[in-house]
Amino acid sequence: MAKKKKWEYSPAPESKQPAAIAGRYELFINGKWQKPSSGTYFNSINPATEEKLSEIATANETDVNKAVQAAKQAYEKYWKKISPTERGKYIFRIARIMQERARELAVTETLDGGKPIRESRDFDIPTAANHFFYYAGWADKLDFAFPNKKANSLGVAGQITPWNFPLLMAAWKIAPALATGNTVVLKPAETTSLTTLKLAEIIQEAELPPGVVNIITGDGQTGAWLTKHNDVNKIAFTGSTEVGKIIQRSLAGSQKKLTLELGGKGANIIFEDAPIDQAVEGVVNGIFFNQGHVCCAGSRLYVQESIAKKFIQKLKDRIGTLLVGDPMDKNTDIGAINSAQQLKTIQAYIKIGKAEGATFFETDCVLPKKGFFCRPTLFTNVAQSNRIAQEEIFGPVLSILTFRTDDEVIEKANNSPYGLSAGIWTDKGARIFNLSKRIRAGVIWANTYNLFDPTSPFGGYKESGFGREGGLQGLHPYVQLS
Ligand code: NAP
Ligand code: MG
Repeated sequence: MAKKKKWEYSPAPESKQPAAIAGRYELFINGKWQKPSSGTYFNSINPATEEKLSEIATANETDVNKAVQAAKQAYEKYWKKISPTERGKYIFRIARIMQERARELAVTETLDGGKPIRESRDFDIPTAANHFFYYAGWADKLDFAFPNKKANSLGVAGQITPWNFPLLMAAWKIAPALATGNTVVLKPAETTSLTTLKLAEIIQEAELPPGVVNIITGDGQTGAWLTKHNDVNKIAFTGSTEVGKIIQRSLAGSQKKLTLELGGKGANIIFEDAPIDQAVEGVVNGIFFNQGHVCCAGSRLYVQESIAKKFIQKLKDRIGTLLVGDPMDKNTDIGAINSAQQLKTIQAYIKIGKAEGATFFETDCVLPKKGFFCRPTLFTNVAQSNRIAQEEIFGPVLSILTFRTDDEVIEKANNSPYGLSAGIWTDKGARIFNLSKRIRAGVIWANTYNLFDPTSPFGGYKESGFGREGGLQGLHPYVQLS
């Protein structure tokens, strides 16, 4: 039964007004807003209120062809020919306009996707702008990035992004593609297209030559047409492992370069010598940040047996204070689940966890009546083979397991189809080096979690995909070296 909150804060809502969301968005092709050939539009809703925010064009195969042709022409006509320094100037301009419009972008991201305004304001938007700044700097320094080699651009990059970090994922993809001299056709996720459409406005405002970046909206089918298009030279996909596999199969035998950033089941490991209170904060940040809609979330917690009881109690006390509710309120810690469908998936996993015999715990916060919300949830007494320890839930649900020795926890952490992220909390540097060498995950944090920086590469092993985004390594997928 839901009880009253432990204490009440006065509401501190951000104003919706800066979002300035239009009633309808068309497709951004060849530098112009174009009506979809199908004449059809879909709704984007606010998952915290279930209200319609806008309607968005559905691109069909004809529109995908148009966008790819525009990108191809722009590549041949302008982008391949202009100097790297000029390319860099355009990318800097995008970054600066993003900063100028930061408030508008943050409010739009929160309204469209349900994440707390604190996160979109302090993390998503500034980090997205930083990616453009960072890659703008590389544009005229590719000779230093690849010494004694020539970095040749590929042509048209087809890019597909998920709904959990909409603008940030678009930045991760567009910035390195442009810096290396490629042109772009990008399709954002259906439930969260709005900030990417605003990025198209910014690209227009930055006066990039027409066709250098094209944004086409639609569902999975639009994405499938884009990935299969013969004139696309490189595909960058971030999303589920299931769709990643479909794309990889569909590209078999083609000459297209491919990078896949897929799901994860991050192991967050707490040793008895860890700074306990910081580790509790790290665990909270690792799984409840962005409602657990994080591919690298620390969704499997391994606590050393000697401190398990104390640690779990501290964790329960801490999550009991998390505020779940209106994402526009600056006090909110956990906002809305992105869609009704994702909430159903999370609830189905909670049922599975109970049926598997794990011990269920949720906080007693009161959830809003409208919208899609989920209480912070823990499972203890979880077995390594349980589905809630193996499969990605993508919600604020943590599975807690215990261990005794370093070797045991390494084996358990690696016993996963995924290999995207891990966290290690300990006082001993030697232990950090030992574990980070032997755990197969693309990103390993030590005594922190979920920290991101444009200079650091990000990506996975195993079913978490391949290829790296961010940092110098993020340039590789977009060039052919000679
Ligand atoms: P998704 O269902 O795989 O969708 C990702 C994108 O692919 C969306 O734009 C989607 O369009 C599109 N799509 C769907 N079917 C397609 C097809 N057959 N061909 C081409 N494109 C297709 O994933 P999601 O639910 O949006 O995102 C959550 C997943 O992304 C999680 O598994 C998470 O771990 C992963 N993720 C990974 C990273 C990373 O860096 N490794 C980062 C963020 C998220 P629609 O939305 O319109 O269906
Ligand atoms: Mg939406």
